[in-house]
Amino acid sequence: MKKYAVPLLMLAVFEAVAVALWLAKGNLFYLFNFSYIGASIALGTALFIRKNRHARRVVQLLVGLYMLIYLGLICGENMQIEGFWYYLFTGVFEAATIHYAVAKIFGPLIFGRGWCGYACWTAMVLDFLPYKVPAGPRRKLGWIRYVTFALSLVFVGALFLAHVGNLERIMFWAFIVGNALYYAVGIILAYAFRDNRAFCKYVCPITVFLKPMSAHALLRVKCDTAKCVSCGKCKRVCPMDVDVTDNSRNRKNGTECILCMECVRNCPREAL
Ligand code: SF4
Ligand code: SF4
Ligand code: SF4
Repeated sequence: MKKYAVPLLMLAVFEAVAVALWLAKGNLFYLFNFSYIGASIALGTALFIRKNRHARRVVQLLVGLYMLIYLGLICGENMQIEGFWYYLFTGVFEAATIHYAVAKIFGPLIFGRGWCGYACWTAMVLDFLPYKVPAGPRRKLGWIRYVTFALSLVFVGALFLAHVGNLERIMFWAFIVGNALYYAVGIILAYAFRDNRAFCKYVCPITVFLKPMSAHALLRVKCDTAKCVSCGKCKRVCPMDVDVTDNSRNRKNGTECILCMECVRNCPREAL
């Protein structure tokens, strides 16, 4: 059982959040929601410990499909960034705001960009594309994320300022159109730049939250320099171009690490 301490700990943390929110909000949904996500993550972590090469993809599909189909399409909860602004402006502390607080704003202080590696339903699709390791050079296009971030804020702000009615319905359609757009742009960029994660690197507005918070992440891949033989394999398999052998907090692309563990799996010296 000792080797499963991490999955059990993950399960316990998510159960604690599930029970706390269930009791605080008096809503059984939170018990189900966080128990399901915790169980999916614990299962993936256990599979990783058993060296199952599909471990990450299993979690990504379990959590991503649940969020996209059940929460988004069936329950009509806009979990995109527009949904976050919408619930924030209405002062409602419900699923989308809680989701952002846990997964994308404060959670990254602990688990970095684990969301991007294990749960995001946009990347869940992009990761099926052929360019798992970028085949092209990194571009200086990171500024686009600030434009998409501002556009999402202006879009929701304008709806409120114009006192548009039936906002719930508009947010539901914004979720569908927004997702379709993300997938279309993500797939086009992946092929254009020969990089599955090009959308994450240049366009995704959520990285405006994720990057600064994950800079201080507790959980990060570190290199045992005594074991490392500088073969460079870890950097060649990294989908996010992280200079993982540099242990400093400001290592190159350090805030892009999605904890996919490809570098760890491929290191011939078990130095990571
Ligand atoms: S960067 Fe954005 S699109 Fe990419 S995995 Fe993270 S949240 Fe999803
Ligand atoms: S793969 Fe391992 S040994 Fe090679 S450079 Fe990376 S950490 Fe060092
Ligand atoms: S390969 Fe390693 S450094 Fe690169 S994103 Fe995955 S875990 Fe992070």
